[in-house]
Amino acid sequence: MVHVSFPYSAPVSQTLFDRAAAVTPGGVNSPVRAFRAVGGTPRFMVSGTGPYLTDADGREYVDLVCSWGPMILGHAHPEVTAAVQEAVARGTSFGTPGEGEVALAEEIVARIAPVEQVRLVSSGTEATMSAIRLARGFTGRAKVIKFAGCYHGHVDALLAAAGSGVATLGLPDTPGVTGAQAGDTIVLPYNDLEAVNEAFHNHPGEIACVITEASPGNMGVVPPRPGFNQGLKTACERNGALFISDEVMTGFRTSRAGWFGVDGVVPDLMTFGKVMGGGFPAAAFGGRADVMGHLAPAGPVYQAGTLSGNPVATAAGLAQLRLLDDAAYATLDAVSERVRSLVTEALTKEGVAHRLQHASNMFSVFFTDREVRNYEDARGQESFRFTAFFHSMLAQGVYLPPSAFESWFLSTAHDERAIEKIAQALPAAARAAAAATNSPEATA
Ligand SMILES: *Cc1c(COP(=O)(O)O)cnc(C)c1O
Repeated sequence: MVHVSFPYSAPVSQTLFDRAAAVTPGGVNSPVRAFRAVGGTPRFMVSGTGPYLTDADGREYVDLVCSWGPMILGHAHPEVTAAVQEAVARGTSFGTPGEGEVALAEEIVARIAPVEQVRLVSSGTEATMSAIRLARGFTGRAKVIKFAGCYHGHVDALLAAAGSGVATLGLPDTPGVTGAQAGDTIVLPYNDLEAVNEAFHNHPGEIACVITEASPGNMGVVPPRPGFNQGLKTACERNGALFISDEVMTGFRTSRAGWFGVDGVVPDLMTFGKVMGGGFPAAAFGGRADVMGHLAPAGPVYQAGTLSGNPVATAAGLAQLRLLDDAAYATLDAVSERVRSLVTEALTKEGVAHRLQHASNMFSVFFTDREVRNYEDARGQESFRFTAFFHSMLAQGVYLPPSAFESWFLSTAHDERAIEKIAQALPAAARAAAAATNSPEATA
């Protein structure tokens, strides 16, 4: 008995995946792309325009992943593309300072009040890794508090109980991270201030920083309870530690000023990526000028990058941010609300227990009837229903994140036609979720 059938084949993608598997571990350059949690053939995409992606077999999908967040204006937005083409024509990398990186830094500082100074890097991983080094250098302390289910990139010290692919694949603590690297990381349950205060009490003068996703999206969407981020900030202040808010996912997405623009809690340091790169590798960390002043060459904490502030990446990021005005966020919020209510309606009609949780325009569906406040709750869901739901949507031309532990992402390009296509696919997907059973075949 096969409980999840893959309703159609994707022969060209399968051929490419076979080629990839011969030369790349698992056939992918980032684990969740391999579809291991849902089974089937990962779709190799060849082009994107607006809210649509086209795969190597020539099938079109409404894209609800948007490159995991960056493509907030849709694919191949003409103004972003033009900015990139202009930049490329002037040369692609100089290894010197340039005006583009200054303009992008100014845009970030102007949007996000707690950021007085910012350093550009090439990935979110680099941003969090560097922010933690800086926090340790600034405080002269070693220990870091993080929360189970939060993902901060694949930084050694931060992989313990991480979300995203680590959650999707159910990996234990990652081999290759030494006891010394993991030993300075204190992992606590999310949304639990008591646990945070207890950790500070048990390690007086040892904790350099608390790092948290501003509003987590890497265990599915699990917003902070009212007062949680403020409580973290207060605990850090009282204990001489820095509060690092990781806005790599939420930054420039959940509002003009990211999650800071929603809850107003002022961190010491913040990290950014995804949207700010406009689809190119650009990320950043920034915050209090007195802390940032400890970075080389102004201060002793070393941090560098051959392609940091790359002119093409900064041109793409700047063009995208300049298009993200209040109207763009109003559009995103409205589209998100539409899609959320369509999903809930379809699942409710079929009697499928679910929680649709959202943080501004980010959202995800948990197949459970209980509120999801932390990683343990998230793992308690019936993921096998997501698998059936995912494949039904895929077969009908809607591309969801291939994991029950990821946020869905929309863009300003998701128009009536795209929403209609989602609406038409949902009833059958909800029926598939209702009919799914938790057999070994279903989760293989
Ligand atoms: C994606 C993500 C990262 C890592 O960014 P990369 O560019 O993939 O290295 C870090 N933190 C959060 C919250 C993220 O969502």
